[in-house]
Amino acid sequence: MKKRSQPAAKPGETPTCAKCGACSTVCPVYRVTGREYHTGRGKLHLLEKLDPAAASAAYAEILSRCLLCGACSAVCSRKIPVAAQLAAARAELNRRAGEQALKRHLVGDLLARPRLLELLAPLARRFNPAPIPADSGLNLRLGLPPQLPAEAEKPPKPATAPPTTTPYLFAGCYGTYLAPAIGHAVQSLLGKAGVEAPQRAAGWGCCGLAAYGAGRLDQARGLARRNIAAHPGPASIVVSCASCAAHLSHYPQLLADDEQWRPRAEEFAGRIKEFSLFLQETTSDQPLPPTPGPGPEPGPRLKILYHDPCHLRFMLPITKPPRKLLSALPQTELVELPRGPRCCGHGGLFNLAHPTDAAAILAELAAECRQSGAEIVTSTCTGCLLHWQKAATQQLIPARVLHLAILLDRLTSSAGS
Ligand code: SF4
Ligand code: SF4
Repeated sequence: MKKRSQPAAKPGETPTCAKCGACSTVCPVYRVTGREYHTGRGKLHLLEKLDPAAASAAYAEILSRCLLCGACSAVCSRKIPVAAQLAAARAELNRRAGEQALKRHLVGDLLARPRLLELLAPLARRFNPAPIPADSGLNLRLGLPPQLPAEAEKPPKPATAPPTTTPYLFAGCYGTYLAPAIGHAVQSLLGKAGVEAPQRAAGWGCCGLAAYGAGRLDQARGLARRNIAAHPGPASIVVSCASCAAHLSHYPQLLADDEQWRPRAEEFAGRIKEFSLFLQETTSDQPLPPTPGPGPEPGPRLKILYHDPCHLRFMLPITKPPRKLLSALPQTELVELPRGPRCCGHGGLFNLAHPTDAAAILAELAAECRQSGAEIVTSTCTGCLLHWQKAATQQLIPARVLHLAILLDRLTSSAGS
């Protein structure tokens, strides 16, 4: 029988799936579950066949079992934006079947155990260097009781600050409230590279990635408008978290239907500078100058594994600048995972909703990390760093885990690493 070919997509139309299966070979979730309906292809098939309003618990569960990593779209010959379609499907499911249908599966056991959350919340807040705002996606990531308000934010007031060329630093919620050392390290590195001290915008907020991943599009759009208003041009916006950088760059798509804000989102996205790319361009591939002092003790080179955050690798895509910055230093030796870079399994809310799958994905990477001989694992995504830190705490890897900015700053300081 003659095989029917799929019709070609017209310009502006989303192409249809060819069912070729290329996405199955790279899907981290499929790799650990072995279920076809967890692949990009399987989920797209489900979206085609099922009505979200009549969705079963199984439908919501399958939609939740996605890291939104974008690996499938990167290999798809038809360039289907699978992760974006799945995020849109989550929003549609929230709208038509009620938010609880999906939320139960996104934050898993945590929502089912409110007593545990009540006990954890004050502890987590007490040990945080700064209070976490109610609309920060960190609340969900840390398993704190979700505090995202249900309604969309009010439109922000226009900024009154005069135009500035002093770069902004966007350190994100993690780099501001939980690990302010990241922001300080970026500031120190920019100083070493001869860039004027960056400013922090008044009125900035969570980038909105967690809200977007949870299908809360109104919330995500409200946060986008707020950040755009808080960062008037023409200054560059240096972003120290890979996932924030990818999501801030995605604002034009998020606000595509908003005639008033779309042009502003495009202008804003054009000024987003992921920190490693910004630093590499600023230093023109030269090693960062060390701070004055005796310099690090001579000794064997430090074996460093740079972990590619999926948001950086597939969405921006940026893979070379962090490696160039590290390999330009005399005391480092870059190592790679034997089977190449892959998702660590954190996926924002995924590790909370599906801890067993997330742990299985991480365990595979940890085994390869041990083979690589890495003494330090570094990355720029705060979610990835939290997950690798978990591997270190559980002694799955004999390596320290550091944000790239902190590592580079230490390696170029007189005290060395
Ligand atoms: S986005 Fe990642 S986890 Fe989700 S279907 Fe695609 S490859 Fe799998
Ligand atoms: S790679 Fe693209 S076309 Fe092929 S099965 Fe996956 S989504 Fe469909």
